[in-house]
Amino acid sequence: MNKKELHDTFTDLESQAEATLQIIKDMKTELSHLTEDNHVLRMENQHLRDRLAEIIKEQSVEKQAVDTGMTKSRLNLEKIYEDGFHVCNLFYGSRRDGDEPCAFCLEVIYGERK
Ligand SMILES: [Zn+2]
Repeated sequence: MNKKELHDTFTDLESQAEATLQIIKDMKTELSHLTEDNHVLRMENQHLRDRLAEIIKEQSVEKQAVDTGMTKSRLNLEKIYEDGFHVCNLFYGSRRDGDEPCAFCLEVIYGERK
């Protein structure tokens, strides 16, 4: 290899290295775009899942209301009662000691509307 050939070879290697470096830079930029997109899509996906879960929950409450003939507000009261709290006017919001049944609460939840 003479000096001219050696010089040309170095020039070729240099431009190949520059081209490779450019590819690496482009890939790096592309990767950060993809990471950003991925993050946005994850957030959106989570939001949609949450919304879907809400809708399914609402539907099941509505279905339950239809099935049992109870209104949503009565179902909510029933849930609070089952969680161990009074929903009657007398003791509203206080804990039912030892989950004792309360006739006033049952009247509010299941009684005839006056
Ligand atoms: Zn009560």
